[in-house]
Amino acid sequence: MLKKRNLVRIPLSALLHRSNPDFISSSLSPPQFSLSSSTSPQDSLSSTFPANNYTSLFLQNTLFSLKSFLCSQATNNGVLRCWSCDKVADSTPFLVCEACKSVQPVDSSLDYFQIFGSERKYEIEENLEGKYKNWQKKVHPDLVHTKSEKEREFAAEQSARVTDAYRTLSKPLSRAIYVMRLEGINVDEEKTITEPELLMEIMEIREAVEEASDSQALNQIQSQVQEKMKYWSKSFANAFKDRKFEEALDSIQRMTYYDRVNEEIVKKS
Ligand SMILES: [Zn+2]
Repeated sequence: MLKKRNLVRIPLSALLHRSNPDFISSSLSPPQFSLSSSTSPQDSLSSTFPANNYTSLFLQNTLFSLKSFLCSQATNNGVLRCWSCDKVADSTPFLVCEACKSVQPVDSSLDYFQIFGSERKYEIEENLEGKYKNWQKKVHPDLVHTKSEKEREFAAEQSARVTDAYRTLSKPLSRAIYVMRLEGINVDEEKTITEPELLMEIMEIREAVEEASDSQALNQIQSQVQEKMKYWSKSFANAFKDRKFEEALDSIQRMTYYDRVNEEIVKKS
């Protein structure tokens, strides 16, 4: 049975008034995998910093899109038409009908880059947050609460998908995992690193975080961690561009570790 997914719901007013992109990470953290029962040092290190499970999110999203896909608005000749007023789509991606403003069902064949009209590449410099808010101004469930149940459902699904797209593309690590997936390469997010130098470094950073007594000390550690993230993000970008996917995977693993440490710092500060 296709179980209805728990849709992320953010009030429209909150979306329109907040400008800090970080709010997404605090209010919408993705599901986390369960802790390992193993007691090896590497496993305990990885379980201390549970990874965000984007794979599970992706699967949920795909399953959830199935229902909408079955009532897709595409006609036999591939022309998109509004389910409500029957007008042909005048723009792509067709999330909302410009003629009657009806929210359209999710089109699962669109990737996250297409939703924002962005080029499908890792290094993005566009105003994603602005585009995200613009979509929410058109598809948010609050806007259709007086409409039919069908359209309310479309809006809930469309809005959740736009949120998933923004959340995935706005952060370097999840974006890296996503572009790899578009290339057909699945990233094992639970794989642990065996390189002693890196493990030692991560443990030292963790100790420093635990011992940090004020926000100044924490900020200093955080900026070092962010520098590391930037370095490995750049390294990922280069490897990915050259289609050196093994190297790209290695960079992702390192980013995963620094990302977890960064989360610990955010929690403590
Ligand atoms: Zn229409």
